[in-house]
Amino acid sequence: MSDQVTRKIKILFAATEAVPFVKTGGLGDVAGSLPRSLNAAGAECSVILPKYASIPEEYQEKMTHIADFYVPLAWRSVYCGIEKLTYQGVDFYFVDNEAYFKRDGIYGYYDDGERFAFFSKAICEAIEKLPELQCDVLHCNDWQTALATVFLREFYQGSEACRHVKTVFTVHNVKFQGQYNDKVLEDVLGLADNPTASSQLYNGYGTIDYMKGALCYSDVITTVSPSYANELQMPFYGEGLDDIFRRRSLQLRGILNGIDTDLWNPATDKLIESNYDEDSLDRKAQDKAALQRELGLAEDPARPLIVMIGRLTNQKGLGLVRYAMNHLMERGTQVAILGTGDKDQEDAFKYFDWTYGDQMVARIAFDNALSHRMYAGGDILLMPSEFEPCGLSQMIAMRYGTLPVVRETGGLQDSVVAYNKYTGEGTGFRFTNMNADEMANCVLDACEVFWTDKDAWIKLQRQAMETDFSWSRAAGTYMDMYHSLHPEIG
Ligand code: ADP
Repeated sequence: MSDQVTRKIKILFAATEAVPFVKTGGLGDVAGSLPRSLNAAGAECSVILPKYASIPEEYQEKMTHIADFYVPLAWRSVYCGIEKLTYQGVDFYFVDNEAYFKRDGIYGYYDDGERFAFFSKAICEAIEKLPELQCDVLHCNDWQTALATVFLREFYQGSEACRHVKTVFTVHNVKFQGQYNDKVLEDVLGLADNPTASSQLYNGYGTIDYMKGALCYSDVITTVSPSYANELQMPFYGEGLDDIFRRRSLQLRGILNGIDTDLWNPATDKLIESNYDEDSLDRKAQDKAALQRELGLAEDPARPLIVMIGRLTNQKGLGLVRYAMNHLMERGTQVAILGTGDKDQEDAFKYFDWTYGDQMVARIAFDNALSHRMYAGGDILLMPSEFEPCGLSQMIAMRYGTLPVVRETGGLQDSVVAYNKYTGEGTGFRFTNMNADEMANCVLDACEVFWTDKDAWIKLQRQAMETDFSWSRAAGTYMDMYHSLHPEIG
């Protein structure tokens, strides 16, 4: 047992996206916000990510080159530059290799298995070679950085800088695991003659699964909500890895994400028609009227305006919405959808837009400003997801006093408190099963309160707006976890 030392715990946060440099989904929000909150909570956290061509020029210009070296990757020796940029008090390190990262997009290339294996190996090399990147905890996120936990143990355990590093792996969505032909073991990972590592990475049918490797090698596994941590241990949600989640359940923790409460604040939001807070909710009516006008919906305060904002994919339970659409329209609601995704889903909602005139609108686009106006102008946010590791939309909606109707799964279940008509408690409405009638009834229950009990509705809105979804809540829980891995650091 080493002696107690008093200093800040050093975290290296490894991710493949981070706001404001690059974002394709929720991971970008997390990596852009959590490190800052960890530093505020007493850590010394820096972030490492690839240097993509798509990072805006204004940031690329400010980066300074601090080192370069070669990374061994099976039979290759690959150039790696490290550039640094301090943004909002957080040090960001960028792994530079133009052959791998100077491309138009972020993901989706034929050699992603090699690109992100390189990135993962480069992280380990950087920890070993550069004193300023040395850390107590290496925190990896999703399959793209999963291999760093494997490489650290298999290739760097003997190194002074790496020996005491503990690893945390966070699952943001188990649907994406990074599965490749087992030829990568020899050709990319350099682990073909290591039977232990090979068997941990092997996922049957000649497949190597990067995420599976991290689940076996990490000291702690986390995911983005407590309910998703339970679900991952079930075959329905675990996507073939449920047995490993069960086996490692003692090291598995669910920590609910936060949202950027400065960016998402109806009292100061410059993108919405009329600012309001929980004591001036009457002003929200102006946001609703403006949104109805903008979207070509009938300008009618008495019609509950149901909004949906997100990717139009099967995960989001859109089949239920399609099935129930006619029923919801007959009852006099309005529905507005903003999203892009699978073509069949986009087409279905375009069809509804065309069919239901000024009662239904589908905007097939990615439009951040419109999303703000929809969070502010809606009455209800519908999110009937089949699974939802955390979900940000429902938290944003609550911050804007737009009450969520959600299915009880993952982070939806953990962030929305169901309305109790006897006590008035709650921050939204919940239903249990993937059943369109059950969803429609839940939406119509919410509408009933909207129509018949204004006081109860306003009370729910206030309770939703007062809920703490800030990152500082999550950061405290992460700090406890990091310290539990290094009890010698006080
Ligand atoms: P996921 O990470 O599964 O896509 P989340 O609810 O966790 O879903 O996060 C989605 C985030 O992206 C939210 O901030 C939401 O407002 C935003 N978003 C999704 N689709 C769109 C869109 N078409 N236009 C604007 N913002 C969008």
